[in-house]
Amino acid sequence: MQLPESITICEVGPRDGLQNEKHILSAQRKIELINDVVNAGVKVVEIGSFVSPKAVPQLADTDEVAKGIARRPEVEYRALISNLKGMERAIFAGITKVKLTVSASESHNKSNWNRSTTEVIRGFYDAMELAAKSGLEVSGAISTAFGCPFEGNIPRKQILDLVQTFISMGVTEISLSDTTGMAYPSQVYEVGKRARELFPSVRFWLHLHNTRGLAMANMLAGMQAGIVRFDASFSGLGGCPYAPGASGNVATEDVIHMCDLININTGINLDKMIEIAQEVRQDVRHETESFILKAGKSLVLSTRDLDKLKREV
Ligand code: MG
Repeated sequence: MQLPESITICEVGPRDGLQNEKHILSAQRKIELINDVVNAGVKVVEIGSFVSPKAVPQLADTDEVAKGIARRPEVEYRALISNLKGMERAIFAGITKVKLTVSASESHNKSNWNRSTTEVIRGFYDAMELAAKSGLEVSGAISTAFGCPFEGNIPRKQILDLVQTFISMGVTEISLSDTTGMAYPSQVYEVGKRARELFPSVRFWLHLHNTRGLAMANMLAGMQAGIVRFDASFSGLGGCPYAPGASGNVATEDVIHMCDLININTGINLDKMIEIAQEVRQDVRHETESFILKAGKSLVLSTRDLDKLKREV
């Protein structure tokens, strides 16, 4: 197998993970969680979003969270925004990196932002101008890149055109997001490979949901296409409030567990991440979709099984 030596994981739990949770966590608790994942070795964290507090009440306090976290110089703390207003709030909160998000699907933009794709993109230009003046780094995200619950398949050209649009605005770090878990491995491989061939200077991320159990397979397919940056969420939390049936980002601890087994360095301590994921499960007050939390690490089980076998012999 062609596997990378190392990958970068962005912990999106504080944003994509929590945004759909009914039980509202305090800003202080969110700050603790962000500091904890950084202490576990995470180098990129999505700390929240600067969008309408009415639309996403859980993240209404991102300003406060941004001001309260311990900032480590080697760690990237980014927030999701969708327009100029979000950019203004991010700057005011002292955030140095933002992620501008547009959906590849017209219907998803309508239901998510109440605007057409063209309108969403038009709004980016003012935001980009302000970012340039204020020295903010901007990345981009294309949601529903691998399928939309309203429109079905999204033609590859549509994705690549949006990548080109981002590049023309000066954005060279782009996340291809499987918002509703519709991606499948051969598609991720082909889109990823083509995107990297056409835009070799772009740093591509994959944002994968495990709605249909394919996130990990898609991640491996992405690695085969040369992609080495992946979003994941503690405890497998997540889901898009505007996409019917969408649930669960791939769990950070599940990803680290697999990477540890196949010798891909993530720089993140699995045991620490499992502890955080267990606490998060208590925070949100319901069972989550993390495999490792349910089953434990496979190597621990093998040792236990070996001992049992020895006793039986
Ligand atoms: Mg998502």
